[in-house]
Amino acid sequence: MNKQYWSSRIRDVEPYVPGEQPKDRRYVKLNTNENPYPPSPKVLAAIEAADKDALRLYPDPDCAALRETLAEANGLTPEQVFVGNGSDEILAFCYLAFMDDETPAIFPDITYSFYPVYAAFFGNNVRIVPVREDFTVPMDQLMQDDGTVVLTNPNAPTGIAVGLDVIGELCEKNPNHVVIVDEAYVDFGARSAVPLIEKYENLLVVQTCSKSRSLAGMRIGFAFGNESLIAALNTVKNSVNSYTLDRLALAAAKAAVEDQDYTHDTCMRIANSRETTTGKLRELGFTVLPSSANFIFASHKTVYAGVIFKKLREKGVLVRYFNKPRIDNFLRITIGTPEEMDTLVAAIQEILEEEA
Ligand SMILES: *Cc1c(COP(=O)(O)O)cnc(C)c1O
Repeated sequence: MNKQYWSSRIRDVEPYVPGEQPKDRRYVKLNTNENPYPPSPKVLAAIEAADKDALRLYPDPDCAALRETLAEANGLTPEQVFVGNGSDEILAFCYLAFMDDETPAIFPDITYSFYPVYAAFFGNNVRIVPVREDFTVPMDQLMQDDGTVVLTNPNAPTGIAVGLDVIGELCEKNPNHVVIVDEAYVDFGARSAVPLIEKYENLLVVQTCSKSRSLAGMRIGFAFGNESLIAALNTVKNSVNSYTLDRLALAAAKAAVEDQDYTHDTCMRIANSRETTTGKLRELGFTVLPSSANFIFASHKTVYAGVIFKKLREKGVLVRYFNKPRIDNFLRITIGTPEEMDTLVAAIQEILEEEA
């Protein structure tokens, strides 16, 4: 392609590739960790009740009502809360706010694949920490106080979680740097580090409405941390785009945060399906990593993951396959409804017979 008009900043950038959102047919869609259950009825009611005439007016740039709700739900003050257009936006702001030439990004080699993309795009140095053979993260190597740590907990695409004691130690051993904990999947089985914010001024916790609150289509993310970290994020935001959340998203997010029972209930259902599916896949000869998320990471003992991925697709079941070193024999499978998981297991059974 002719890149004559492109800035030098982007000429060599390799952008992130989002999971497929196919339009050619109906799939059992287990490839982008969306929630199989609809948003809370209270969320839908809040969107219905939103003042449509007010859509001609800009939304509240401070997102004050939503931040108050989030503060109350998390035992924080509104000054300790930031909201953004999806947590991807917040993570991008974090790179601008907390990393520069002297402060690299430090993260595991197997983690959310957006992290290296941000670093390359914003020109930040990185220190990449290889995970162990069992895909656990060697935490001591994230405790060198030599840059901004970015840790997904539970990790993606492995699903492996660490405890709060580990997060606490991470903050303690990096006193001069920010520790960002990306909790996109925390509600499915791990413990949130939000209660540690009072103790560690370098801790920033990032969450999203996309996974546990069934609102991927509305683009809502949160960050919690010390007032100074939140002020840094506001400085970035107000230098790029002050109105990041629209009026409908603000209304939906508030209702979603208030309806914690619904979130808890749907997350429990997904966690149960996860355990059932894990058992069935293990019986079929898969190694399945212990997951605390709404997906599992699985590898078959004889049939190559790339083959299963392709054949599942032909059978109308989409999962995620990363053709990357160390994980190219694994499938990341989102947990759908029990019926969807039955379809998946039946399709895999067929494929294993065909490949035997
Ligand atoms: C899905 C995901 C996000 C992005 O969530 P959005 O709020 O939809 O932008 C962030 N981090 C991880 C690890 C994710 O898997």
